[in-house]
Amino acid sequence: MYSAPNIQIVPGRRLAAAGATPAFDSTASHLPAKADVIVVGAGIIGLSIAWRLAAGGQRVVVIDKAEAGSGASLAATGMLAAAAEYEAGGEILIQFALESQRRWEPFAAELEQASGLDLDFDRSGTIVVAMTRDETARLRSRFDLHGKVGLETRWLTGESVRTLEDGLRPSVTAGIHCLRDFQIDPRRIMPALEIAARRAGVTIIENQPVSALAMQAGSVAGIAAGDLECMAPVVVLTTGAYAGSGQLVPSGLTIPVRPLRGQSVCLRAPATQPPLLRHVIWTEQVHMAQKSGGRLIVGATVEEAGFNADVTVGGLFALLEAARRALPGVEDISVEAVWSGFRPTSQDDAPILGETGVPGLLLAVGHHRNGILLAPATAEAIAAMVLGTPVAQSAQSLTLQRFGRKT
Ligand SMILES: Cc1cc2nc3c(=O)[nH]c(=O)nc-3n(C[C@H](O)[C@H](O)[C@H](O)COP(=O)(O)OP(=O)(O)OC[C@H]3O[C@@H](n4cnc5c(N)ncnc54)[C@H](O)[C@@H]3O)c2cc1C
Repeated sequence: MYSAPNIQIVPGRRLAAAGATPAFDSTASHLPAKADVIVVGAGIIGLSIAWRLAAGGQRVVVIDKAEAGSGASLAATGMLAAAAEYEAGGEILIQFALESQRRWEPFAAELEQASGLDLDFDRSGTIVVAMTRDETARLRSRFDLHGKVGLETRWLTGESVRTLEDGLRPSVTAGIHCLRDFQIDPRRIMPALEIAARRAGVTIIENQPVSALAMQAGSVAGIAAGDLECMAPVVVLTTGAYAGSGQLVPSGLTIPVRPLRGQSVCLRAPATQPPLLRHVIWTEQVHMAQKSGGRLIVGATVEEAGFNADVTVGGLFALLEAARRALPGVEDISVEAVWSGFRPTSQDDAPILGETGVPGLLLAVGHHRNGILLAPATAEAIAAMVLGTPVAQSAQSLTLQRFGRKT
């Protein structure tokens, strides 16, 4: 007899965090007529900004077309991988990425306290491994680059990698230990941010697409969502992969952001079995991140597929084959869930922060593969722009202006 497999396709649907207080009743929130700041999009970027602005005394409304925290942010693995992600050409982002990585520990501590949730912050670090002679040569060049920008990484022989991770295949030839590339769990961060923001006084409106910006004398004066309106002198667009679709911004303004699909698989070992990994492991093809409770996330594909959210045989096959190539123990554990998400990707893979040239309209979009890592520094930078306090140097070059468009 056929029985339905216990495999969920997520996100698109909020998952309750382990031990989380019950989700807030979103129907209890009504769009107020006025606010100081409206944030369009309740992903990690929008909610972090809103939380910071509320702490700065602003009346903030966040509005999302779906459930808060159900977009790319929920699809993420949760790696804070400033070093593991760094490669040639990454100079535009590295100082901002390191700034945000430094901010993550205090940000997480404050968020845990404000929400009462444990974020599963894991400080073991990340090991990028090589499994052939060619891979070792490429890894060595990456390691040399790390030294030039002062990343806290160390070179490991194959034997040292296996001492740290004895479940990896003996064919591992070398590794880079990225000592400060920690990880957290997006399934916990997203509800925690929602709770913290609401407790700080933020109004969060869900399942309400923003259809237009309200304009007055060439400036943004608020938003329209169907028949509803909310007026505010500042609107921050944090619409993730949808930012480039152009429906919301005044004509003449182009936001160079597109969706880049990522598929992931979550595996689960029995509770009685010790975890397969102690660090986040990267190979050239795949990353594997052990979460608490026996979950192991294997991700992620990088695909130009528009807004097609399908989870494909080719995607899953590539992920599972690459995981087995490095970690044979995955063969014996079960598949818990599969999902896809849309990375918001700009032309140079770095975020676009700040002014647009349209008074009152700010952007915080294009965080690509690093939106979880970059959330604390993005929230600080946008809050500083709104509140008129100094903006961190590392954020100042990440404007729309760098693409030579209207500012
Ligand atoms: C498989 C995968 C793995 C990843 N792993 C990592 C990782 O390990 N570490 C890391 O740092 N990053 C990772 N990322 C990248 C990270 O997920 C993104 O950079 C980040 O989530 C972007 O956050 P966001 O808030 O901009 O977007 P989102 O979370 O997508 O939020 C945007 C929100 O805007 C809303 N919206 C859009 N249009 C409208 C509208 N008109 N009106 C109202 N609301 C609207 C959407 O509904 C959505 O909720 C990963 C991404 C994927 C896909």
